[in-house]
Amino acid sequence: MKNISILGATGSIGTQALEVIAANPGLYKVSALTAQANARLLIEQALKYRPGMVVIGDESLYLEVKSALGALPIKVLAGEDALCEAASITEADLVLTAVMGSVGLKPTIAAIKAGKDIGLANKETLVVAGDLITRLAREHGVKIIPVDSEHSAIFQCLIGEAPDSVEKIYLTASGGPFRGKDLAFLAGVTKAQALKHPNWVMGAKITIDSASLMNKGLEVIEAKWLFGLEADQIDVIVHPQSIVHSLVQFNDGSIKAQMGLPDMKLPIHYALAYPERISSDFKRFSFMDYPELTFSQADSGTFRNLELAYSALRKGGNMACIVNAANEIVVNAFLNDQIGFLQMSEVIEACMEGVAFIAAPTLNNYLETDQHTRIFANQLVTKQVLNNQN
Ligand code: NDP
Ligand code: MG
Repeated sequence: MKNISILGATGSIGTQALEVIAANPGLYKVSALTAQANARLLIEQALKYRPGMVVIGDESLYLEVKSALGALPIKVLAGEDALCEAASITEADLVLTAVMGSVGLKPTIAAIKAGKDIGLANKETLVVAGDLITRLAREHGVKIIPVDSEHSAIFQCLIGEAPDSVEKIYLTASGGPFRGKDLAFLAGVTKAQALKHPNWVMGAKITIDSASLMNKGLEVIEAKWLFGLEADQIDVIVHPQSIVHSLVQFNDGSIKAQMGLPDMKLPIHYALAYPERISSDFKRFSFMDYPELTFSQADSGTFRNLELAYSALRKGGNMACIVNAANEIVVNAFLNDQIGFLQMSEVIEACMEGVAFIAAPTLNNYLETDQHTRIFANQLVTKQVLNNQN
């Protein structure tokens, strides 16, 4: 029986992880669950899965959760710091990090320091502080098992291979809802259009990131840290069917790919069961449904976020942290109808130029950079809003 804690249990990844757990009775026990604001679903999940601890981020909801679960042997905590307690609870073997954004950084560190293996969905944490997280994981003998479908694919392709035999990797990208569109079209897209992803149903932030190709940019940085690669060893290739989840090219010219239907439950199931591979009743792939798998170059001229992410990766230091924080702010502003689709990249680029660069950041430097960038990006958003009104 493997004990699993889920940070961000009420989100898209969190709920799918609980479905995987429910579909495999006797294999997993839930040790802790956390949510930010969705108290109702957190309570429902706690009643069903009976974790030892639940955390609600929004402290004003503490009493609601506590009174619903008070009679049960479930410790109820609230607030941001409590997330770290849930991440390091003694019983857990594996912590699935499925919160959205850089808020995952501190609890991921807490989990690693407590010796928990990490099932990593929360890519922003590796983007912000990949050097620090991977170093800590090595020091504490902790495994980081990727949940992101592309990285799960690479991880699976690398099993049994010597690390120095990898020449390069190809991360596949669906291209999102605006694949093939030009700048004039992108200037006028609405949030409703951006929220319609062709292949995946996900949380709002990552869906916008997929439409703007920032998701792929963040994944390039995530891949660097997970697999110890340089920027020029990571290529992005557009594959609209999302069947080939990613590929590794080895030094003999051979390429391995991992394929499957686009269903996040598959990489979640793999990460929870790792190092075993256990059977599932997920829908099987049929070649007849996909007579054609196509591949093309990503249009980084139109979707500038991809280039911004590569440039942050090449620059190193706290630059990826700046890109991530700026992106979290602009996606939120776009979702609130404050700025247009293309203005997102403009604000991110201005933050890369305007926020102080630190070549060798400490944890505190990362936390400060995250805060400073949010303030700076919010100021730029306010300016854009005023410009848009005039
Ligand atoms: P969702 O927005 O669906 O869920 C986010 C979860 O985090 C919810 O449980 C939410 O709680 C909680 N949360 C939100 N804000 C905070 C906060 N400030 N403090 C603590 N908890 C918070 O996101 P997804 O499930 O889509 O994505 C989660 C992570 O997984 C992201 O990093 C994303 O990039 C990554 N990922 C997601 C994929 C997908 O298919 N969805 C695919 C690959 C990676 P509440 O519900 O109460 O608001
Ligand atoms: Mg992905």
